[in-house]
Amino acid sequence: MAGEAKYQGVYPGMVTKIIASYVSHHNVAPEQIADLINSVHRTINSLGKAVEPQGVLTPAVPLRRSVQRDAVICLECGWKGKMLRRHLSTRHGLTGEAYLKRWGLPSDHPLTAPTYSQQRSTLAKELGLGRGGRQTAPPPASDAPRPRRGRPRGSRTAARAV
Ligand SMILES: [Zn+2]
Repeated sequence: MAGEAKYQGVYPGMVTKIIASYVSHHNVAPEQIADLINSVHRTINSLGKAVEPQGVLTPAVPLRRSVQRDAVICLECGWKGKMLRRHLSTRHGLTGEAYLKRWGLPSDHPLTAPTYSQQRSTLAKELGLGRGGRQTAPPPASDAPRPRRGRPRGSRTAARAV
């Protein structure tokens, strides 16, 4: 069979050289040599493959343009939207953390459009989210002047002043 003779992997000579050099410098038991050959094979094979897909990462948009006031842009594909986190997991299988690490971004790099997260927190407050089942007493109104009781404001004094 023609297919059997074809060797697709690493050049055997290269592996032999590496093994020979390793064995001459280390104390290797005979039964370890098979493992050694295997691991050298695997390493060299993976080296050859790793070069291709990794290369140099080129962002879809310049980094400083990836965060805008009302949108964030995916550096992987140029997708533009309000929430990057969900897009990353569904489209690229990446967590937000993995994405930041991949692109060397700081951990505080926004993954949600700044105005959108603002809107959301405002909305949450309006809806009363965060209060939940726990009923917290409203904070004392310190800076809002309350009308004093018992003295209707400005009724008499205003009339006299005229
Ligand atoms: Zn994307």
